[in-house]
Amino acid sequence: MSLNSSLKAALTRVVSSPVLWDAPLMAWTTFRIGGPADALVTLLDGKEIQEVIGLCEDEKVVWKLIGRGSNIVAPDHGFNGVIIVLGDSFKYIVRGNYLGDGAVIVRCGAAASLARLTDWCAEKNLAGLEFATGIPGSIGGAVVMNAGAWGTEISEILYSVELVDSQRAATLVRKDLSFTYRCCENFSGSHRNSVITGVQLVLKQSKSAEIRDEMKKLRQERLSKQPSGMPTAGSFFKNPPGVSAGQLIEASGMKGFSVGDAKVSEKHANFFVNRGKATAADLIELMRVVQEQVKKTSGVILEPEVQFL
Ligand SMILES: Cc1cc2nc3c(=O)[nH]c(=O)nc-3n(C[C@H](O)[C@H](O)[C@H](O)COP(=O)(O)OP(=O)(O)OC[C@H]3O[C@@H](n4cnc5c(N)ncnc54)[C@H](O)[C@@H]3O)c2cc1C
Repeated sequence: MSLNSSLKAALTRVVSSPVLWDAPLMAWTTFRIGGPADALVTLLDGKEIQEVIGLCEDEKVVWKLIGRGSNIVAPDHGFNGVIIVLGDSFKYIVRGNYLGDGAVIVRCGAAASLARLTDWCAEKNLAGLEFATGIPGSIGGAVVMNAGAWGTEISEILYSVELVDSQRAATLVRKDLSFTYRCCENFSGSHRNSVITGVQLVLKQSKSAEIRDEMKKLRQERLSKQPSGMPTAGSFFKNPPGVSAGQLIEASGMKGFSVGDAKVSEKHANFFVNRGKATAADLIELMRVVQEQVKKTSGVILEPEVQFL
């Protein structure tokens, strides 16, 4: 069902950037998969976010925020509703207060990319975010997913988040938030209708050269283990407790298996890649076959880490 004309007119009125109608989601996800969203709006401040969410709630239309789309599978038939993207005004990065003992707050807009943020921190001699080198998400998406690598997660250096919903703006500090492996539970529970607009991290004063050396090491490690240059969303499944999903998939004989153009990477069995024209249906079928095979060979049921829109 597409949007009614009064909602379309209201969106055009409250959103200052051009509204994209029937926007192909394959352009907004790193898997390069997904049909058209009824509307895609790029929002520039908290007021616009509140107005758009409010309009959707009034009209009972579904909305969803996409960060950098690096953990999302969008459906082939598209999205019946409004996709929200945060604009450039949510990409700021600034140094905040000194907390003592070498700890410094960094304040950033939720749409700042981890790539730019890690580089900025290295330049400003601030350590703690090196683990995120090579994760292609935004800092807002990293909080919602509790992104992590090499044994460290974003929740370990989080100070607070700023968010808005249709009614209010709020700041939640770290102790208000509940994190588990690859999940901030607040955003699938009490705050599932909120948008993160800003994030504050606590980093440690260090030396730029040391930070860059660590980032270089981790980047090389990634390149040696993970496929590059192919559309993917990173790890497809969560690692079950105490074991790697990639190893279970490899042991089940599914490495390299494909459905259509969706393929289990030859390089890292927990990465599914799009060889060109993969559809969401191919990916879902591949997921189903891999889950079945892994269950048969190990008894473990793999749970997706990627989110289905
Ligand atoms: C090559 C590759 C390597 C990867 N490696 C890693 C890795 O090492 N570790 C890891 O943890 N992940 C990894 N990922 C997955 C992904 O990059 C992370 O999950 C990332 O944090 C997602 O950020 P995003 O901005 O792309 O979020 P999206 O994929 O756009 O969204 C993910 C979820 O967060 C929500 N969201 C995003 N921004 C906001 C916001 N501002 N407010 C409210 N909700 C929001 C979305 O609605 C959605 O529910 C990898 C992905 C790829 C493609």
